[in-house]
Amino acid sequence: MSFRDTAEKWKDEAIRLRRHIHQNPELGHQEFETAKLVAQFLLEAGLEVQTGVGGTGVVGLLKGGRDGRTIGIRADMDALPIEERTGLPYASTREGVMHACGHDVHTAILLGTAAALSEHRDELQGTVKFIFQPAEEVRGGATVLIKAGVLQSPELDAIIALHVWPDLPAGKIGLRKGPCWLRQMLLIFG
Ligand SMILES: [Zn+2]
Repeated sequence: MSFRDTAEKWKDEAIRLRRHIHQNPELGHQEFETAKLVAQFLLEAGLEVQTGVGGTGVVGLLKGGRDGRTIGIRADMDALPIEERTGLPYASTREGVMHACGHDVHTAILLGTAAALSEHRDELQGTVKFIFQPAEEVRGGATVLIKAGVLQSPELDAIIALHVWPDLPAGKIGLRKGPCWLRQMLLIFG
């Protein structure tokens, strides 16, 4: 199966995960249930999993069939102290807490990516480290992960991240090298 077909196969599951996480939002440094879901999913996908990284962080490691460099892909997991009034069928079930910044989407995308890449691990040249970060909104989430050694063992040669962006329609991506600021918050380690 081509990687594109594998990715397509995981699409519905990624949407289901996104909606589940959206319904159950957790604030920064308190992403206990989200971290549990992430860790369980990564284990089932056949990754090596580290939990409790810098508090609620989770790291999954996927070693490819061939030697190569190591790339990190990072997603944030925390929600905001906002009351949801969207009326969506999968709206937040927690009063005063909402995934209003899209970190539910980021987490689900990275889980789907991990599952799809895991199915192609034999073709993979190198290692992928999937980093699920706590507390992007309140800051400190990247710092606790770095202090916990997430950039080492294995050491990362590169790291990428993404953030949903209202101006970009689904299916399109925009690229930017280096740190990127949105609402004066640093999204990518830097
Ligand atoms: Zn955000």
